[in-house]
Amino acid sequence: MTNKKTENKYADYALKLKIDCKNCSGLCCVSLYCIKTDGFPADKEAGIPCAYLNSDYGCNIHSKLSEKNYKGCIAYDCFGAGQRATQLCLTNGTWKTNPKQADIIFETFMIVFQLHQMLWYLMEAFQLTSDNKLESTIDQLIQENEQIAEMLPENCSKTDLSAYRLKVNTVLKQISSAISISTSTSRHSDMMYLGKNFKKANLDGKDFSMSLMIASNFTGCSLKKTNFLGADIRDANVKDTDLSESIFLTQMQINSAIGNKNTRLPDNLSRPAAWF
Ligand code: SF4
Ligand code: SF4
Repeated sequence: MTNKKTENKYADYALKLKIDCKNCSGLCCVSLYCIKTDGFPADKEAGIPCAYLNSDYGCNIHSKLSEKNYKGCIAYDCFGAGQRATQLCLTNGTWKTNPKQADIIFETFMIVFQLHQMLWYLMEAFQLTSDNKLESTIDQLIQENEQIAEMLPENCSKTDLSAYRLKVNTVLKQISSAISISTSTSRHSDMMYLGKNFKKANLDGKDFSMSLMIASNFTGCSLKKTNFLGADIRDANVKDTDLSESIFLTQMQINSAIGNKNTRLPDNLSRPAAWF
């Protein structure tokens, strides 16, 4: 089985991908649309500030999000795109101080979000591979990611991430297949596991990438090198479960699952406040 490297060459980059709401201008609370089916009590149009966003770009109901049924806000994580987009655009003000620039600021946020999400996966991919050629491809993709971000916001209208995304996806597929092959497990064809009870199963090396796993039960499962890339694990039960060696998990996935103080997480992820 492929093991993660112990030394993290991209540790500094990891800090960039942690949300820092104090240095942001509440970009997620304004630029994104909210819909009831995604864990919000009411629909909100993109570009309209949430009614609870205060004058300092903070949330007036931060400690009551669960009580007020804002599950979508509890789960959301921007991979550090909010503070970076705010800082990249700051010479022209914020969406509030300079409304004429709002569209370009929101667009910058959307592009940085996608770049940071891909950077997140690339950094983990780098840790997972020992293939020199793949390592060098990932290094190049990380550099390219930085170069695209540095051209913002000026180059927003010219930025098309589809070719870059294709290259990133190719690398991620190669790493995922290498792990599946090394653990001799195959991918399940239908990818539908809504409410499935996996209780105490050995799921080591399983490839659940892009699977629908809402409200599945993973209590007590063995999840070493289990691939959760893009899997929807909203309301999945991960209480008393060791996810520390699972791969391609994100903070947003963890925030949307149901764990407890005994749930173990990979080092790059934080324990949601509700789990203590
Ligand atoms: S409820 Fe709070 S965190 Fe959620 S969108 Fe509104 S201001 Fe932002
Ligand atoms: S966009 Fe990110 S950094 Fe900004 S408020 Fe939302 S979660 Fe926090």
